[in-house]
Amino acid sequence: MSRTVKIQDLEVKGGQKKRGNLSISEKPAGPHQIPFTVVNGAGDGPTLLVNGGIDGSEYNGPAGTLRLQTELDPTEVNGTVIIVPVVNTPAFEARWVYTNPVDYRGLSGAFVREIPRGGSGHPLISYQVAKSFYDNILSKAEYRLDLHGGDIIEDLLISTMYTRFGEDPKRDDAAFALARNFGWVWIREGRPRPGAKPPYEGQPVPITMGTEAGGSGRCQSDIVDMVFKGITNVMKHLRMLRGEPDIPKKAKVYRPYHIYSERGGFFISDVRAGDMVRKGQEIGVIKNLYGDVLERITVPQPGVIHMVTSPAVYQGDALFEIGTDISEVE
Ligand SMILES: [Zn+2]
Repeated sequence: MSRTVKIQDLEVKGGQKKRGNLSISEKPAGPHQIPFTVVNGAGDGPTLLVNGGIDGSEYNGPAGTLRLQTELDPTEVNGTVIIVPVVNTPAFEARWVYTNPVDYRGLSGAFVREIPRGGSGHPLISYQVAKSFYDNILSKAEYRLDLHGGDIIEDLLISTMYTRFGEDPKRDDAAFALARNFGWVWIREGRPRPGAKPPYEGQPVPITMGTEAGGSGRCQSDIVDMVFKGITNVMKHLRMLRGEPDIPKKAKVYRPYHIYSERGGFFISDVRAGDMVRKGQEIGVIKNLYGDVLERITVPQPGVIHMVTSPAVYQGDALFEIGTDISEVE
C-alpha cells in the first residue's frame, strides 16, 4: 500500500482518489483557490504531476486532464498522480493571452522564494500562485507533464517538448524519454538561453516534458483524445499503469528558432504550422494599413513551421518559430 499524500488539509490514502482546492491567497471578494485531484494508487510508484493552464487560454491539455480525473482508477495505479487542470485560473476566466488581467505577469518565471511586498503597484497574484503551486504540489513530484498548446493568437504544430539543460545528461535523457513515450511524432528540443537563471531559482524540480497541443485557442476532441492517450502512455512508460505505451516507431526531433519582424503592421502568412519550408523561401509579408508591403519574410534555415503568430504585429515581435536540424529517432 502506498503512502498517504497530504496537500494542505487534504489527505489521500493509497487506493483513494480525492478532489481538493489549492488555497492560494485571499482576493478582494473571497478566497483564490485552484481545483485539483489526487489519484493515490494502490501500488507503489513515483509521483507524477499533470498540469495544464500555466497559460490561461491554451485548452486541449486541460481538457485532457478533465478526462484523466474521471477515468483514472486508483486501484489500477502504481504511485500517485496529482492533476491540476488549470493553474492560471485568472487568465483562464478572462480568456487572457500569456499573462493575466490582474498583475499582467506570466506564471513561467513568477516563482520566488519570498513574495515581495507590493507597495502601491499591481497585486502579487502570479507570485502567490507560483509559490503555492510550487510549495504544495510541484515540489512533491518526481515527474511532470506540463500541458501547453497554441495560445489564442498562435497557430501551432502539435508536438511534445523538453529542454536539454546540459548539466545532467541522465535527467535530460529521462525528460526526452517522457516526450518520446507520450507518443507524438514531433519533439521540440529546447536549450536554456545563455545566462538564463535556472527555473525555480535552483530549487528541486521534477523531470519535465511539455505538450504543444493544438493551436489558436481551440479545444477539439480529437486533440483532447491524443492528450489523454499521451498521458496514459507516459504512465505506462513509468510503470504506473499496466501495459506498454502505444507510440509510433520513429519520431522527429527539432530545435526551435524564431523569426522576428523588422517592421510593425499587418502580417499575412503564406504557411501554416506543420508546413515544411526551405532556405530562402518567402513565407509571409507585413503590410501597413494602406496596403503597402513593408517587409517580406524569408526563411534563413530550412525546417518545419512550429508556430505562426497574430496578424497584428509590433516591430520586433516573433512572427514564426521554425523547427530546424530535424533528426529522426527510434
Ligand atoms: Zn503555453
